[in-house]
Amino acid sequence: MNLVFLGPPGAGKGTQATQQAEERGLLYIATGDELRKAIAAGTPLGLEAKAYTTTGRLVPDGVIIGLVRELLGQPGAEKGVVFDGFPRTVGQAEALGRLLAERGEALGAVLYFDVSADAVVQRLSGRRVCRQCGATFHVASLPSKRGALCDRCGGELYQRDDDRPETIANRLRVYQEQTASLLDYYREQGLLVRVAADRTIPEVRDAVNAAIASAAGARGQGGTGSEQRRA
Ligand code: AMP
Repeated sequence: MNLVFLGPPGAGKGTQATQQAEERGLLYIATGDELRKAIAAGTPLGLEAKAYTTTGRLVPDGVIIGLVRELLGQPGAEKGVVFDGFPRTVGQAEALGRLLAERGEALGAVLYFDVSADAVVQRLSGRRVCRQCGATFHVASLPSKRGALCDRCGGELYQRDDDRPETIANRLRVYQEQTASLLDYYREQGLLVRVAADRTIPEVRDAVNAAIASAAGARGQGGTGSEQRRA
């Protein structure tokens, strides 16, 4: 099963996508995480990406598609992949369709995290990330039990540069201008399932499980499932 988690930055996609990947034994691919790793390591990809990520602009499609092609070659991808933060443009979505088709696969569902702008700003400005393992926390709703250190691995927690107020506004604008059109793209393909994401993490997890079950059920019944799944 290949799943895309789609929605504005700060919608809670990463938290839910990592959980789903762990529970279902799927490979987790987050292009943003990979870019941050490349930037920290100072690789050519990192050097190219840095100017875009620090200002909240999208890294060019060609770079991202090349990255995803490489990541899909990793062991574990054959069981299925949870994509987080990719695709972000129609060009990337088309490329993903082609990459999966080359493997004789397709997308099972696209989960659209529907969340208010207020919640997004609140979530992003309070987000803290572990420098070592990438786990995500929130100063108010999901604090680490170890304060400024990560619950899981003891690594240092930090605030992403692009989670500062000036950049948050730009990222939301970029989402509206370049990514929101993917909702129509996937709705037309009968793949889009809406998840009401303005709720607590356990509530959203239940909604995600229900959405995946409904998509899988619709597939199993052999129909397009578009009525049941239309978002
Ligand atoms: P994220 O961690 O998903 O919020 O991504 C952080 C930043 O990385 C974004 O603001 C973009 O600059 C860049 N980025 C991540 N994924 C993509 C993508 N699929 N296409 C273009 N840029 C991306």
